[in-house]
Amino acid sequence: MRDTNTGTVTCARCGTVLGNYMTGDYYKLIRIKYCPACKTQVRREYKRFWDSQHRQANKELNKEMREQIRLLKEENERLRAERFGTDTQMSSQRFKGL
Ligand SMILES: [Zn+2]
Repeated sequence: MRDTNTGTVTCARCGTVLGNYMTGDYYKLIRIKYCPACKTQVRREYKRFWDSQHRQANKELNKEMREQIRLLKEENERLRAERFGTDTQMSSQRFKGL
């Protein structure tokens, strides 16, 4: 956080004073939002958040794929049953002809 009156830059998380952009390195300080410790922590939390988001998305995708595979298997079974059904009819017809 930046105090526009005094120029004091503090960590947005723990409030540690990082410096004064009026007397210190302006371009460096206006880009800093957190102290080094909080920066690491924030980055870790952000990463964890995205990891969980990805895990959730993967879970959804896996569920969808499993359902697709199940449907394909069902379709396969049905087609196989149909084909075997026809085969049985054909063989019984052949038997009739004998
Ligand atoms: Zn901090």
